[in-house]
Amino acid sequence: MEKLEQYKKELAGKNAEETLAWSLRKFGAERVILASSFSAEDQVLTDMLCKSSHSARIFTLDTGRLFQETYDVMQRSMDKYQIRYETCVPDSGEVATLVSAEGPNAMYASRKKRERCCEIRKIRPLKKILATADAWICGLRRDQGLTRKETEVIEWDAAHGIYKISPLFDWSEDDVWQYIRRHDVPYNALYDRGFRSIGCAPCTRATAPDQDIRAGRWWWEDPEHKECGLHRHTAIPGKG
Ligand code: SF4
Repeated sequence: MEKLEQYKKELAGKNAEETLAWSLRKFGAERVILASSFSAEDQVLTDMLCKSSHSARIFTLDTGRLFQETYDVMQRSMDKYQIRYETCVPDSGEVATLVSAEGPNAMYASRKKRERCCEIRKIRPLKKILATADAWICGLRRDQGLTRKETEVIEWDAAHGIYKISPLFDWSEDDVWQYIRRHDVPYNALYDRGFRSIGCAPCTRATAPDQDIRAGRWWWEDPEHKECGLHRHTAIPGKG
């Protein structure tokens, strides 16, 4: 609690680049890691991080169900920034058992089955990689929807027992795209086809401009359940 409050004070008024620099100083480049799904926000953070450190760690969860356009932006980023992603994949035996028992499209059958798929393809690989860090950096923004409106610049992630840092917590969608254009940052081509939040191919679709930014994710579920568990609001202020 005391440490978290101290960190919040240290970060007050810092911009995103300063927050990243603080994170590397505070935890050390080996013990802080950026999570990238190649979203526009993650690409902004990747650009900032690669410009400030050559030893920064970045990981991605390859669920095996991503869009080809997502792999394309991963490749372009590797080429541009000369980086390697720590690529986390699900356990092949668990995926085989899941698909054999439930079929490849079970996520549409019920929320329970969808969460089971997310558990195997995302949550478990995430837990493994986060066990190697003391803090993780995410591209969460408050205006990304109901489930993210409480996001703070730093929180205690009780589910993983490490700090979670969101340098873009107060950025707007416009701020993100202005940065991308200004710095010529590679981005997922699906954004040009009406996608505004991109995850696995079976669970993501394009949205109308007047819809919620995450309306295209798990569109068949209620808005309050639109998280896969990676960012479910488990952060609590009473630890650290
Ligand atoms: S987002 Fe969809 S395909 Fe990806 S892990 Fe979750 S349920 Fe499975």
